[in-house]
Amino acid sequence: MDLLARIDDWGRSFHDHPMFWSGGATLSWGDLREKSDALAGAIARAGISSDSPIVVRGHKESEMIIGFLGCAKAGHAYAPIDVGAPEARAQRIIEASGAELVLTPETIRELVARNDPPPSAHSADPSSPHYVMFTSGSTGEPKGVVITRGCLDAFLAWTIDEQQFAPGREVFLNQVIYSFDVSVMDTWTALATGGMVVSLTAADTADFRQLFATLECSGVTTWVSTPALAQLCLGDRRFAASMLPQLRRFMFCGDVLTPDVAGRLLDRFPEVELWNTYGPTEGTVATTSVRVDREMLGRYQQVPIGVAMPGTSVVIEDAEGHQLPEEARGEIVIAGPNVSPGYLGRPDLTARVFSERNGVRTYRTGDWGSVRDGLLFFHGRMDNQVKIAGHRIELGDVEVHLASLPLVRAAAVIAAERNGRPDSLHAFVVLAERGETTDLDIRASLLRELATLLPAYMLPRNFHFLDAFPLTANGKTDRKALAATLTT
Ligand code: AMP
Repeated sequence: MDLLARIDDWGRSFHDHPMFWSGGATLSWGDLREKSDALAGAIARAGISSDSPIVVRGHKESEMIIGFLGCAKAGHAYAPIDVGAPEARAQRIIEASGAELVLTPETIRELVARNDPPPSAHSADPSSPHYVMFTSGSTGEPKGVVITRGCLDAFLAWTIDEQQFAPGREVFLNQVIYSFDVSVMDTWTALATGGMVVSLTAADTADFRQLFATLECSGVTTWVSTPALAQLCLGDRRFAASMLPQLRRFMFCGDVLTPDVAGRLLDRFPEVELWNTYGPTEGTVATTSVRVDREMLGRYQQVPIGVAMPGTSVVIEDAEGHQLPEEARGEIVIAGPNVSPGYLGRPDLTARVFSERNGVRTYRTGDWGSVRDGLLFFHGRMDNQVKIAGHRIELGDVEVHLASLPLVRAAAVIAAERNGRPDSLHAFVVLAERGETTDLDIRASLLRELATLLPAYMLPRNFHFLDAFPLTANGKTDRKALAATLTT
């Protein structure tokens, strides 16, 4: 059955059941159905161009879900922006998206109150864009990954079949913000299976007491997060099966799951399944998965990222595009119905990494990988993209914005590593003028300005002020030499 029709059916059968909980507020299935219908009606009356995505800007309010579903029912893709994005960055995304309408929780409430009749039919065209996720771009311009209904259907069919979610009974934990596609794994899976989402706010994750209080009464059956949240929770001994008695599975995505975190979770939650999933936004949330157990942790030094979803191929290629044999390291290349058509309005960027091979959409991930015993392993990035606590960051994005500040003549940003993985951002700066101010004052002033351009998770933790950058033989900033100063 078509996704939206299925969601509508759940809305009818589970009318009074909760669908979404966040920050103490609940949205029922019935309210979701009726309010998203009314919103779709209002959007249809607004007369915006049919191919224009709609920006939905907010945090974890229930109106966000109403907004996403209302857009889909009106035949428009939604482009989520979290409130944590500074105004300047949000405006760039809105501009790049070409959106003719920007919704916020307030405007959604107003539009719903008009009670417009919903459009008579929903589009189920698999090639129509369903959402656009904006990720960090290396030139400082966020790039919008277009995901079609067909891509989402392929992802949902796979995960629902693999996990055998109990229809109408799952409670999914949502950790990440809606502009990060790991949220699709909890929210759209819950929508498709008649489940419920318990969504953590920034305030929940910033305060341990509040976080644990929320988790304790959440009834979560399916934990969806980046490994960073589990790592944080493991720091407290109370984080164990007794805190989440209904939990049946952990589903991780978006960043490296270390053997240490995996092992400790298996110890503390002996009855709970542990799944590692992998994939870039460009491949719709996740493309590979594996259930991790003790035996696997004993056999390999790393946690594998698994095997490809059925109908999708994941191969390791060399720089010339030749497939490599088992054990050899190369680029992870994915091909299948879950691969995005490309970056919104950027055929140049799209052509660099996407292609059509024998009629199948293909994406070169830029991730190093290898296959062993039929299982895929991840070996880091081939470029300057890093993950810090699960957030995808192009170092170039931070550099461009830092270099745009009046105080700065030149900037380079390096990710310092801990236990072999990127851990925090270090900014190396040549100042335009030094004056009498201390390094601490300059750092504070740069951070203040940068915070108006970049979300908090992209701000460098450390600043190093230099008179000039070390140069390579061909006159470029010697990033390796800068990185070496962090390890000595
Ligand atoms: P995003 O588009 O934000 O989901 O980031 C995608 C990138 O995150 C991938 O290209 C990988 O570099 C990294 N990634 C995603 N899942 C995993 C995983 N399970 N293990 C290691 N890295 C991952």
